This record gives sequence, structure tokens and C-alpha cells, in this order.
Amino acid sequence: MLRLPPYRYHRPATVDDAVALLERHAGDAMVVAGGTDLLPNMKHRLFEPGHLVALKGIGELRGIREEDGRLRIGAAESLTSVAGDPLVRGRFPALAEAAAHVAGPQLRNMGTLGGNVCLDTRCTYYNQTAFWREALGFCLKKDGTVCHVTKVGKKCVAAHSADTPPVLMVLDASVVLVGPRGTREVPVRDFFLADGIVNTRREADEILTEVRLPLAAARRRTAYAKLRQRKAIDFPLLTVAVSADVDDGGTVRSLEGVVTGLGSRPRELAGWSEAATGRRLDDELLDELAERAHKQCHPLENVIVDAEWRRAMVPVYVRRALERLSDA
Ligand SMILES: Cc1cc2nc3c(=O)[nH]c(=O)nc-3n(C[C@H](O)[C@H](O)[C@H](O)COP(=O)(O)OP(=O)(O)OC[C@H]3O[C@@H](n4cnc5c(N)ncnc54)[C@H](O)[C@@H]3O)c2cc1C
Ligand code: SF4
Repeated sequence: MLRLPPYRYHRPATVDDAVALLERHAGDAMVVAGGTDLLPNMKHRLFEPGHLVALKGIGELRGIREEDGRLRIGAAESLTSVAGDPLVRGRFPALAEAAAHVAGPQLRNMGTLGGNVCLDTRCTYYNQTAFWREALGFCLKKDGTVCHVTKVGKKCVAAHSADTPPVLMVLDASVVLVGPRGTREVPVRDFFLADGIVNTRREADEILTEVRLPLAAARRRTAYAKLRQRKAIDFPLLTVAVSADVDDGGTVRSLEGVVTGLGSRPRELAGWSEAATGRRLDDELLDELAERAHKQCHPLENVIVDAEWRRAMVPVYVRRALERLSDA
């Protein structure tokens, strides 16, 4: 049986109190929301914080409401709530769908949207017990000096593996971060970094308090597709989100796509809007875009599935997502 390392559990009632706790125990504290990723990682000794600051009891982090032209979703809302909320389903069905495809039902009941956006990167050589990792001499991301995926270099390429961020990116969403230095809003597009060790711009003492989606983005057609081994529970091997502005006559005004599960940040597919603007979402365009995605996406051996097979699946899943757009 894997046991948790010892830690002190704090249950602040406000965001200010939570930030103060993170500041007081700087370097030895982490926030926990649903705990569906953090607690297994602690059992694997990937993190051993002396203090856990719980977010689920903070009322300010709850609620899904329209305000100032945006849909605001509290970071501690569960994925089940996001997936089932009438406002999310009505305005942003692809986000509801992505939330509904994270893990399995129990994990979605506990797991939160904030935790999904802040999810640690994953890798075959990292998400293992300390015993397993030690047998291999550990790796760059935790306790070691080599990367078993690239074999060379000093960069960790663990995979961004969360389902909602690609959809949030194509919907121009932003996140609100609150810390000792104040509050800032960061577009989800700029939130992720190409560094598998720390892959977000969130500082360790900042709390993600809410996700904001511009209501204007609800006019776009948006779709999502996910490849995983077992549909009932698994992390994505690939997640694809696509979004298009299409006029009443069916002509594309802009179109974009994001694929994740490859490297440490979701990849925005290049050149899509230029290729699609002024055209219709017909078979010819869909094939062309799927082919472009295939050329741009190069999955690595950071996930326990053959990288060449995953690469072959890129155009398949990109096309599936695009077909949903054209049907929308
Ligand atoms: C078997 C299994 C299958 C899974 N499948 C999927 C899947 O298909 N897709 C997927 O996306 N995820 C999957 N997950 C991972 C996880 O369940 C979800 O990503 C979930 O949304 C994480 O949210 P949480 O609230 O439980 O995060 P936690 O585990 O509480 O936290 C995750 C990380 O985010 C940080 N954090 C959490 N909330 C905040 C906040 N508000 N501000 C700042 N930092 C924060 C924590 O410190 C921690 O580093 C799976 C997990 C398991 C165990
Ligand atoms: S990509 Fe390399 S450094 Fe990063 S977790 Fe995997 S093996 Fe470790």
C-alpha cells in the first residue's frame, strides 16, 4: 500500500487566508482542490509538502454566473458541475463535453476546473512510485539528472495532459490568479510554458480563483475530440479542440485548432485560419487541415503508447473534431 507522507492540513475560509498560508509556509506548502491528482502524486513522493492548503471550503471559489459580458466559473467548481451546468452547456457545449470526458465519474465529482487547468505534466518515467523511479536512477523532473525520453539535453518534455485547457484556449478564456503581489488575469493561451518541470505561469504562492470566458465566443462553433485507451477513465493520449467563425452563408471567417498530449504545453496549430478563411467546411478543407496538423504534431515517447501510432491518430482526431464543427 502506498501511504501519504506526513503533512499539516489547513482549511482557510477565504482566498486571502489561503494566500497568507502559502506565504507563511513558502516553499513547503501546496494548494489542494479535489486532490485527485495531487494526492496520488504525493503517494508517489513526487511532492512532499509539509502543508496542504485546501480550497474546497472557500465560498469565493464557487459559482458559475454571467457577469460583465463573461461567463465566470469558480476554480473550485467540480468538473461534474461544469459538465452539467445549463449556462456552460448552453453557451460553451465543447467545454461541458471536455469536462465530462475527464477521468471517470467519481474523479469528476471530486476534481475541479482549477485543478484541471493547473494539472501537473505527466510522463511514463515520472508517474511511478519512488521505488520504480529510483530503479531507473530517477529523472530530470524529480530527483535525477537525465531525461529518459529525449536521452540528451536538459529539458523535460513531460506531456500536458488536461482536457479542458485546449477548449478554453480556442474560446479565448482567461484565468484569474491571486497572490501576495495582488490579482492578475492571464489568457489561457499564454498560461502554459514549454517546460515539463513547471509548465504554467502561476507562481507557487498564487491561487487560480476563476476561469472567465467571453460570452462573445459563444457565437463560434467549437468542438472537441479525445483519444484515450479506456473511454471510461483514462488520461488523454491526444485532446483536440477546434473553433470556427462561420457566417450565415457557411463561409469560414476564422478557424483555429489546439492539440494537447504532445509536449508540455498545448500546441496551437499554425496556418489554419489563413488556409480556411473564405472557404466552406467541406471535405477538401477538412482533409487539408488534418494533413497540416499531422505535419505539425510529433508525439514523444512520454506516454506509454507508441509515438508513431499516436502521430497517425492526430489527423484522425483532428478530422473528427472538424466534422463536428461542420455539423454544428
Ligand atoms: C485515474 C485518473 C484518471 C484521470 N483522467 C484524467 C483525464 O482524462 N483528463 C484530465 O484532464 N485529468 C485526468 N485526471 C487528473 C485529475 O483527476 C483532473 O485533472 C482533475 O481536474 C484535477 O483537479 P483536482 O481539483 O483534483 O486537482 P488537485 O489534485 O487538487 O490539484 C492538481 C494540481 O493543481 C494545483 N491546484 C489545484 N487547484 C488549484 C487552484 N485553484 N489554484 C492553484 N493551483 C491549484 C494543485 O496544487 C496541484 O498541483 C485523472 C486522474 C486519475 C487519478
Ligand atoms: S520527459 Fe524526461 S525529464 Fe520529464 S518526466 Fe519524462 S523522463 Fe523525466
